[in-house]
Amino acid sequence: MSMRKALCLLALAVLVGPAYAQSPASVPDTIEGHLAAGKNAAGGRDNTPDFYGLVTALCVAPQRGAPPLDALAPREDPNRKATYMQPKKAFDDVYWLGTESTSAWLLTSDDGYILYDTAYVYDAEDVLVGGMTKLGLEPAKVKYVIVSHGHRGESGGATLFQSRYGARIVTADWDLIEGSLYGYPTGKPKRDVVATDGTKVTVGNRTVTLYLTPGHTPGTISGIFQVLDQGKPLTVVYSGGTEFNFPNDVAHFDQYLASERRLASLAAAAGATIIINNQSQFNGAADKLRSLADRQPGERHPLNVGAEAVARYFKIEDECAQAQRLKVIAGQSDH
Ligand SMILES: [Zn+2]
Repeated sequence: MSMRKALCLLALAVLVGPAYAQSPASVPDTIEGHLAAGKNAAGGRDNTPDFYGLVTALCVAPQRGAPPLDALAPREDPNRKATYMQPKKAFDDVYWLGTESTSAWLLTSDDGYILYDTAYVYDAEDVLVGGMTKLGLEPAKVKYVIVSHGHRGESGGATLFQSRYGARIVTADWDLIEGSLYGYPTGKPKRDVVATDGTKVTVGNRTVTLYLTPGHTPGTISGIFQVLDQGKPLTVVYSGGTEFNFPNDVAHFDQYLASERRLASLAAAAGATIIINNQSQFNGAADKLRSLADRQPGERHPLNVGAEAVARYFKIEDECAQAQRLKVIAGQSDH
């Protein structure tokens, strides 16, 4: 190799160096390496939006397996009203209805509403119906209910909206819901719309595009849609399932990783700058929406974290799932 050619290659290596440093290939393929990379993606330094709640759940807390189909019926917490939080207008055309642990989102349109996730069964009446009433919105205008997955905090209120208001229920987790023995003490929702990859749920001028993202549960779905913030359209990715409470074997982690990587690229291609979900601790939704009242002219919306932060959210999931997968291979799973 000539000296000149060697120098050219050296210059090229210097030029591409920083890009390689950020690529997944630079993360040591070890449990510790992936955990460190996941934690480092939380942000919170240099004024970047942080996802410490997500890191705590995925990279720090012990992991559990899947809840069995014969899991005991959900408990009615006598102190449940203490966990209720004020319903909030989140964007011009979206409302948040939640507790300290769950988020449900009401997407409004000129011709009715789409309710995205439905809280726990015993909270649905107060948090969802009561919350809408408090905000001056009519629960009977809910035309579609999207259930991101068939766990209790997402599907608990589906029966109420189907039976009382005739809302259509959209999910891909019908088998999980129908297989549960005791999970629906007020009755199971009847099988209705089966979401497939690319299903569009439209009410009036509002559309949510759904994608199959199996992993968290077999039928977990995620969505991409637009919201208006002070009249400006912004793109949201709704991540349908987050934690590793599925059978903790390599095949399930591989499925989870493939789904989250695909959703990350769909979100990036759509220009998503907001990531929301069904559990407010993962993206800080409840606290961020409380701070909305203090927003000054020109300040960004607290949930509008930007495309780079959205990518970091997926990186936390990815790296810490890889760490957990390696623990399974090494026989070191947490349960
Ligand atoms: Zn779940």
